[in-house]
Amino acid sequence: MIKIKISKTLETKIRKGYPWVFKYQLEKVVTEGSSSLAVCYDHKNRFLAIGLWDPDSDLCFRVLNLFEPKEINLDFFLQRFQKALLLRKGLNEQGTTGYRVLNGENDGFPGLILDRYDKTWVIKVYTKSWFDYLDLILEVIKSEKNVDQVVLRLARNLEKPSTYYFDGQVLFGPDPITPVRFRENNLNFQVDVINGQKTGFFLDQRDNRQQIRKISRGLSVLNVFSYTGGFSIYAISGGCRKIVEIDSNGLALKSSLQNKKLNFEESSNLDYQQIEGDAFQKLQELKSINSQFDLVILDPPAFARKKKHRPQALRAYSRVAELGVQLVAPGGRLFSASCSVHISADDFYKAVNSGVTSVQKKLTEICRTGHAIDHPIKFNELGYLKSVIGWVGDKK
Ligand code: SAH
Repeated sequence: MIKIKISKTLETKIRKGYPWVFKYQLEKVVTEGSSSLAVCYDHKNRFLAIGLWDPDSDLCFRVLNLFEPKEINLDFFLQRFQKALLLRKGLNEQGTTGYRVLNGENDGFPGLILDRYDKTWVIKVYTKSWFDYLDLILEVIKSEKNVDQVVLRLARNLEKPSTYYFDGQVLFGPDPITPVRFRENNLNFQVDVINGQKTGFFLDQRDNRQQIRKISRGLSVLNVFSYTGGFSIYAISGGCRKIVEIDSNGLALKSSLQNKKLNFEESSNLDYQQIEGDAFQKLQELKSINSQFDLVILDPPAFARKKKHRPQALRAYSRVAELGVQLVAPGGRLFSASCSVHISADDFYKAVNSGVTSVQKKLTEICRTGHAIDHPIKFNELGYLKSVIGWVGDKK
């Protein structure tokens, strides 16, 4: 096993539960060799943590167990899995069969996500260290009753994927898989777990979508960056009279239409439109024809994938809020979200506000929200979703 040493400052942080060591923070790699596990020693040369070791990644060490040496075996993972399932208990009864079962570091599986879409379970790994443990993870998942298929997704930043594992691989069950369906708050969705973004669906927005459902009756709604229609389906279910979706991905728009069909009969009471193209451009076009909506939803992709992208990302959040707010009808509302881990909540809310005020509008906040409960957050650095909903008025 690899042995590493780190600075006293980082040691203090790790003692408090911070789960990562980056390459530049390594003081010493005491033992070289190839292993996907490493032990981190403190400044007095005592055991501090055992964790996953990935020397090819800047994020080279992720804590698996703190203070106490542990065998990293089936039992170790099973215990954590059972604990994670307990936290999600009750979702099924609420009509939700698609949810996050393991939220990485927050559930003791650093760099690994497990999302469940009814009987199809999707593992997403962010470090190749997990390749050595996937057989165990598969056994852990199969300890549950409702498992027809298990699919593997690889993070795009995984630099040297294994020769055996690949993105979209079916690890267990029929291959190729048939369309995967699940329920969220008693609504039906179909998800492409092989090619879709993340594991196929943005499960983190479940509570926010429910909020939108509650306020949609009778409204005209613009859903920008609509992907497979998550927010739209909730708005329609909440009784909106009009929905317009904008997304640059034609396939996502098609899936959204499919999701609509899974839930609702054709209805002449609903004005439903889709616009394929660049949101920034399409929002400007809508403004030029004086379109207005009672509710505008802005849920863009992560504009900052890396720390160095922060300034341009903040400008993009501002710009999209500026364009969106101008389409809100008098007395209407704006919902704006960011899923960029590198953008702090404070900076995001400031960016939204600056976009809104730059066009002489004002946002009176109703509430700020975040992830749904199946996305527990143990450390600030691991919380990424922030959103705000507010009334739009004129700046006096
Ligand atoms: N709100 C969605 C998730 C959005 S994911 C949900 O609840 O499921 C981000 C979406 O933005 C993706 O569907 C992607 O195709 C789209 N997208 C990315 N850049 C875009 C752009 N410049 N214009 C329009 N859509 C864009």
